[in-house]
Amino acid sequence: MRASHRPVLAIHGGAGTVSAARMTPARAARYRAALSAALRAGYGILADGGSSMDAVVAAVVVMENSPLFNAGRGAVFNADARHELDAAVMDGAGSRAGAVAAVRRIRNPVLAARVVMETTPHVLLAAAGAERIARKAGLTMVAPDYFSTASRARALARVRAQATQQARSMTAAADRHGTVGAVARDRAGNLAAATSTGGYTNKLAGRVGDSPLIGAGIYADNAACAVAATGHGESFIRAVLAYDVAARMRYGGETLAVASRRALERVATLGGDGGLVAVDRSGNLAMPFNTEGMYRGWVERGRYRVAIYR
Ligand code: ASP
Repeated sequence: MRASHRPVLAIHGGAGTVSAARMTPARAARYRAALSAALRAGYGILADGGSSMDAVVAAVVVMENSPLFNAGRGAVFNADARHELDAAVMDGAGSRAGAVAAVRRIRNPVLAARVVMETTPHVLLAAAGAERIARKAGLTMVAPDYFSTASRARALARVRAQATQQARSMTAAADRHGTVGAVARDRAGNLAAATSTGGYTNKLAGRVGDSPLIGAGIYADNAACAVAATGHGESFIRAVLAYDVAARMRYGGETLAVASRRALERVATLGGDGGLVAVDRSGNLAMPFNTEGMYRGWVERGRYRVAIYR
């Protein structure tokens, strides 16, 4: 592999942050430590000359294994008090992609998304079919209650207690949503993105969000950028957010910073809040969000950074 490009990694742990007023120093420290661990896992691979795909998957696995984020272990409860998880990966080289939706027994859904990409002729597998492929590939399967944590159970109770739709929209962002995601450029100049989520607290059973939908919550194209989004999935789907960022760059000549900001503004006109992390072919990073905060971290020129609020 020709070592001519500077490796870059950016991750997010969701735009559904605990409000700054309720965040304690100890809690913030736990989030920062988890984000740092994800960055180390991903950037270690890039620094050693590994691929951007390996790096984004490794970073996302660390966040899936943490109960702090709404993905994997810390996934939210749906309206049936169950968990249905979505995840995707996309490789900027050759536009290869894989995704799983509404899975209930795969410990690391992002690994299953990669299995779909690498071992099937399909892009997106849902529910039992996705679980069968994951099991066959030797991925770790868990009982569905592996994903049940006390804090997400309390969030479900809080959201259910909001009787009216208006009251529901006032519910704290941390109770409503979150996702994890990662984007990277490796030494070969290849871009990749990965996403994983439990979706929305109290979502209807069978609901699939933007995170496993190529072009909506995730996109990667070496000619433009890699994007991993977080936020109100229905709005991101209708805005085709992640592809919009890439299209603005390719066809409109916009910079990554402008394209990602404008694409997010468009989501906002559809009533969607959230954010994204993105990296372009030159290694520029953008991490805009229109919520109070977004758990995020990035490594540029070997320097590790994590942040929660503005
Ligand atoms: N985008 C995710 C979904 O709608 C949730 C989130 O990122 O907050 O499933």
